[in-house]
Amino acid sequence: MKNWDAIVVGAGIVGLSLAIELNKQGLRVLVVEKGEPGREASWAAGGMLVDYPAETPPGLRELATASTGMYPEFVRGLEDESGLKIDLRSVGTIVLAGVETGQSPATPRAYALPRPLAELEPALRIDRSPDSSTDGSTAFYVKERCVDPRHLTAAAIAAARHRGADFSSGDQVLAVEVADGKASGVRTSKTRFAAGMVVNCAGAWAGQIGPHPFPTRPVKGQMLCVAQPEKELVRHVVRAPNVYLIPRSDGRMLIGATAEEAGFDKQTVPETITKLRQAALDLVPKLADARILEAWAGLRPGTPDGLPILGATPTPGYFVATGHFRDGIMLAPVTAKLMGQIMAGQRPEIDVSKLSVDRFVNYVARD
Ligand SMILES: Cc1cc2nc3c(=O)[nH]c(=O)nc-3n(C[C@H](O)[C@H](O)[C@H](O)COP(=O)(O)OP(=O)(O)OC[C@H]3O[C@@H](n4cnc5c(N)ncnc54)[C@H](O)[C@@H]3O)c2cc1C
Repeated sequence: MKNWDAIVVGAGIVGLSLAIELNKQGLRVLVVEKGEPGREASWAAGGMLVDYPAETPPGLRELATASTGMYPEFVRGLEDESGLKIDLRSVGTIVLAGVETGQSPATPRAYALPRPLAELEPALRIDRSPDSSTDGSTAFYVKERCVDPRHLTAAAIAAARHRGADFSSGDQVLAVEVADGKASGVRTSKTRFAAGMVVNCAGAWAGQIGPHPFPTRPVKGQMLCVAQPEKELVRHVVRAPNVYLIPRSDGRMLIGATAEEAGFDKQTVPETITKLRQAALDLVPKLADARILEAWAGLRPGTPDGLPILGATPTPGYFVATGHFRDGIMLAPVTAKLMGQIMAGQRPEIDVSKLSVDRFVNYVARD
């Protein structure tokens, strides 16, 4: 049986970024993917690299700041190694009132609009009624980036291959194998692969792989994509209480997204897509002329406390990096870096012990 140094289970952005990181350390890496690489949550995401304290759980802020800071170099590295272009935009985000939780340490002054809303986004409908979310006085500007996650994952797959990582696609990992009390490889639906280290990056499905019942669950998100009727009709990402708009450089615009407890169902529901589209039209009436290009649903990897699960597991040689919920695209660079350090037996440069699976010691898997 061929042998690798490390097996990464799951070829989403988390597994792919980590595979590249491990490869940089000189390890021989195998990525095992149950379907097609990069076609689950990482394909379905909007790609906002949220960098607004009011919207980031306190337990994630240090990681979020580190990861968003790493992004330009992360993208440049993937572009260089893959030869593919990644749409990374730095225009910034307009947050309309109602999104903040009120617990933000950030003063509104730090997030003041650089110019009046009507100048920043002329197509945005400014509603002066008292409880409106677009009256312009309750809008904030956040200097954050957004990325096209499909470009990103395609480049990460190509970069990992270019570096010599092996892939086994259409091959579901059923369990991590243990010999002499340590991880020794994985058993799949087709075969067995041997490695001294295994890392579970299986997203919403991570809890289905033995021997540890990680408490992940799918949180369904439906979205749609339209062709903007005018070039740069909207330039910023716009986040309103009930919808967000993500313009892409090629003229497309994503409109999202729901957050539903619907098991592993990835069907889109026409009424839900219509509602999202209507919420976008309420914000930008000119989108009435926008052609719908696509609608889809993806499964965010949720956990009971909404935070990722990172680090070692009770089985030596077996690691986990999952549960990134709404922020896995944003958190991929820092996750890869810290998990690379942990798997190399080093102390990670950011303490992630609070994100260890140990916090779920009393968790009992449900049928
Ligand atoms: C609608 C929507 C919008 C989002 N918007 C954003 C956003 O704006 N910004 C942001 O940062 N994040 C966003 N997210 C969240 C982001 O998509 C996820 O947090 C991130 O993609 C998780 O990456 P992952 O690699 O862990 O999971 P995935 O991309 O789901 O990858 C896991 C992989 O593991 C594979 N797998 C599962 N089980 C097995 C098995 N047993 N054997 C082998 N392979 C297996 C799967 O097939 C899959 O390819 C959004 C998500 C959705 C659904």
